[in-house]
Amino acid sequence: MLRRDFLKKTGLLTTGTLFTAKQDFQNDIQPLEKNGSVLILGAGFAGLSAAYYLQKKGVKYKILEARNRAGGRVFTSIVDKETGLHTELGAEWVGASHQLLINLCDEMGLKRISHTFKGAVSLQNKYQNWQNVIKDEAWEQKFKDLMKNFERLPQKEQHKLDKLDWWRYLVENGIPEQELELRELNDSTDFGETIRNVSAFAAISEYAYSSNNNEMDYKIEGGNSELTKALTEKVGKENVLLGKKAISVNQTGKEVEVICEDGEKYTASRLICTLPAFAVSKINWKPFFPPEKLEAIKQLQYARIMKTPVLFAERFWQEEDFSMTTDRLAHFIFHTSQNQPVSKGLLTSYTIGDKAHIFSRLNPEQKIREVCQALQPAFGDMERLAEKVTGYYWGDDVFSQGAYANYDVGQWFGIREIIAKPFLKTVFAGEHIAEWQGFMEGALKTGKDAAEALVG
Ligand SMILES: Cc1cc2nc3c(=O)[nH]c(=O)nc-3n(C[C@H](O)[C@H](O)[C@H](O)COP(=O)(O)OP(=O)(O)OC[C@H]3O[C@@H](n4cnc5c(N)ncnc54)[C@H](O)[C@@H]3O)c2cc1C
Repeated sequence: MLRRDFLKKTGLLTTGTLFTAKQDFQNDIQPLEKNGSVLILGAGFAGLSAAYYLQKKGVKYKILEARNRAGGRVFTSIVDKETGLHTELGAEWVGASHQLLINLCDEMGLKRISHTFKGAVSLQNKYQNWQNVIKDEAWEQKFKDLMKNFERLPQKEQHKLDKLDWWRYLVENGIPEQELELRELNDSTDFGETIRNVSAFAAISEYAYSSNNNEMDYKIEGGNSELTKALTEKVGKENVLLGKKAISVNQTGKEVEVICEDGEKYTASRLICTLPAFAVSKINWKPFFPPEKLEAIKQLQYARIMKTPVLFAERFWQEEDFSMTTDRLAHFIFHTSQNQPVSKGLLTSYTIGDKAHIFSRLNPEQKIREVCQALQPAFGDMERLAEKVTGYYWGDDVFSQGAYANYDVGQWFGIREIIAKPFLKTVFAGEHIAEWQGFMEGALKTGKDAAEALVG
């Protein structure tokens, strides 16, 4: 069952207290008048999706994007020019439940390719295939039951879950010690920070309704940025203005006026703001947000994730679907040149939270060494085959200060709705306020919803 179906079933969508973004848009925003125009801040998936919808409805729009590229946190990078080997520095997986994204890929003629991984574990330098890791069957069954029961939990109980962190929830439900260590390592890759700072409600609503592979199913052939390119073509390159960092939004007159850092001014009847919370807080809003909105925006933290692809001269790991969770700094290492048939290959280290911050401060030689030392128990010393290291630390990203929003204890029900609420002529969109929060799907959906709310 999809999360939205679940919420409908449990009545949460009709109460007006949760996931009300669309309803709020409809209630609070005046529909666009005939011949009205729309400005969109941000050319990530939320912004491009909004524009795509407006274009289909024949509405005039322009996207203002601060970077010199579209796509935002979808960021395919060519690591090796000689072979064309590429990897994702931002969004990696297309989930099997992510229907809007899948439909868009189909519409644009983009092929999805399998991107699943077998998994292995290396704890205290002891390497084991996933099948050999001793599992507690009683706990596995209990976990399945807990996820299943979640569907029937009354709303009051769900609010209580939001007051608990995911680590505490597991401990209180009797997770065995060794399972806890593994879950802490693995689940923290999903949220990008320690699971001690993740709302148990946010975690369960992800695990209870995700695909069997936990939405780690596919990627787009040629890289996920292929969808950015295709959407940009559809909405018209001339409508996607790059290098346009918005610094001020004035909603005191008849129209919305946006001033960019280069001094250029743009006006339209309505604004769709798809910026991450940090970027929203940096804009000079006239009039200013109500205090509770500003407070909510400032409370939302983003996960610190660093992806560090290492180019190896040979694919010594042999298996296409090789991946490994380790208790060393490199955290999670996986084969990111799957389905790119050249002899060289890429293993990417995916680090989170404090580990990501530490990793980001290492020099290239130190990064390669860390990755190779983590791989040592499985393959021996492979440093001699390492040719190059690249990477991106999202914790330093000037616009988002992180990879995606990290809803801490009490925040899912506490601040999300306030952040999502429209403000005068502005409708908000973006991954951080989505039902599928933290996913491309969520970004696309909120963009479409925002546009739909304006034009019906
Ligand atoms: C490391 C990492 C791993 C991820 N893994 C996955 C995954 O496996 N699967 C998945 O589905 N999703 C994943 N995601 C999440 C996914 O990338 C995001 O949910 C989605 O791309 C967010 O889109 P958005 O449009 O909401 O925001 P963004 O992509 O951030 O778009 C907002 C845009 O606004 C621009 N901007 C900021 N400030 C201004 C300003 N002042 N003026 C104008 N423009 C501005 C930014 O440059 C940006 O382009 C991952 C993300 C990261 C970083």
